[in-house]
Amino acid sequence: MAKKTTARSKDASLKEPLITLSAGPVAAYPRILQAMARPVQYDYDPWFQQFYEDLTKKAAKAMRTRAPALILQCEPAPAIEATAASLISPNDVVLNLASGVYGKGFGYWSARYHKEMVEIEVPFNESIDAAVVKAAFKKRPDIKVVSLVHHDTPSGTINPAREIGRIVRDHDALLIVDAVSSFGGMDIHPDDCFADVFITGPGKCLGGAPGVTFMAVSDRAWRHIKKNPKAPFASILSLSDWKDAWRKDKPFPFTPSVADINGLDAALDIYLEEGAENVWRRHALTAKATRAGIKAMGLALWAKTEAIASPTCTAVKVPDGIKDSDIIAAARAELGVVFSSGRDQTKGKLIRIGHMGPVAEPVYATVAVTAFGTALRKLGKKIDVGAGVEAALAVIAKG
Ligand SMILES: *Cc1c(COP(=O)(O)O)cnc(C)c1O
Repeated sequence: MAKKTTARSKDASLKEPLITLSAGPVAAYPRILQAMARPVQYDYDPWFQQFYEDLTKKAAKAMRTRAPALILQCEPAPAIEATAASLISPNDVVLNLASGVYGKGFGYWSARYHKEMVEIEVPFNESIDAAVVKAAFKKRPDIKVVSLVHHDTPSGTINPAREIGRIVRDHDALLIVDAVSSFGGMDIHPDDCFADVFITGPGKCLGGAPGVTFMAVSDRAWRHIKKNPKAPFASILSLSDWKDAWRKDKPFPFTPSVADINGLDAALDIYLEEGAENVWRRHALTAKATRAGIKAMGLALWAKTEAIASPTCTAVKVPDGIKDSDIIAAARAELGVVFSSGRDQTKGKLIRIGHMGPVAEPVYATVAVTAFGTALRKLGKKIDVGAGVEAALAVIAKG
C-alpha cells in the first residue's frame, strides 16, 4: 500500500533544530518540562490550593516584591492586553513610550480604552530618554497612565526603566512595565522601577514554556482598576477576576493551567537556587561575548549604542545585499542553529540572537558567532569566522 503523504511529510528534509538561539520562546530546561509532566491535580483540592498560594509567594520573592504575584492563565501578550483593558479607564490620558514593536503595539490596545494618548516614539534602534518623559509631563500634567516596554525584543534594546519610573511616580501617574524578555535575565524588579503593573513570564529568560504570566500589581493600580467603570469581569481580559486567587481559601474564577503552573514553579526554583545575580551575570557575559564576535567579523550591531544593547538578545544589522531569511535559513541548514528575524517594522533589517535561559551561557556566544559567520560565508560573503570566535573567547576569558 502506498504511504500516505501529508503536507508535513512532504517537508521531510526540514529537520528539528539542534540549537535554538531564538528571542523566545526558548528550548526549555528539562527540569521544567518534567515538572509540567507531573499529575494534573484538581484545582479545588486543598493540596493544589496551598501549592498555588506558595507559588504566588515564590514568584513575589523572585520579583523582590511583597505582595503575592498575580498569575494569569495565558501567555504574556494577552496579559498585557488585559492590563490595558483593566487599568485604563475612559477618563485616562495615556503616555505610550514606543522604542520598538511591542511599545508601538501597546498603543493600539490602549486606544480601545483611553480618553487620549500622548505618544513618544523614537527610532527602533534607540531608547527612550527619561528627560523627554519629564518634558511630556510638564506639557501634559494630566497624564494618568504610562506604558513602557523595558526590553523591546524585536529591537534588542533596553529602556531606562528606573529613571522613567521615578518620573512617573513623582507625577503620581501609574506605570505599566512589560519586562517579559528582561526579567530573570538582568536586574529589573517592579519596586525599583516604581512599576504599578509589572508583567513577565517563564518563557524567556527563565527558560520555561510560554503558557502563563506572572505579574506584580501595586495597591495604587488595584484602586484605579476598582474605580474604572469599564474594567472587565468574568473575562479573559480581567485582572480583577484573579486578584484574590492566590489565597488558598478563595476559589479560582476559572480552571488554572495546571501543567503550566507546575512548569512555572520549577522555573522559579531554578532561578532562585542558582541565585539571581549569577543568572544575570551569565546572560550579560554571553551577550557581551556575542557582540564582540559579531563586530570582529566586520558586522554591525543594530542598537545605536552598545550601552542600550540588551543582555538577553543581540540584534545584528542585516548586511547590505543579503536577505535576512537567507541568513537564517543557511545557519539552520549548515549547522542546525536557529536565530530569530525582526518583527513588523524591524523585519528584514536585523537578525536576533537570543541569550535567554539555558542558552544564556558564554559557550553559546561562540556557537552563535560560528553559525552567523558560516551562514554569511555560504551566501558568498568573505567573513573571518575565526576572528569572531577569538574575540568572543577573549571576552569570556576576562569573565
Ligand atoms: C515575548 C514578549 C511578549 C509576550 O509575547 P507572547 O507572544 O505572549 O510570548 C511581550 N513583550 C515582550 C517585550 C516580549 O518579548
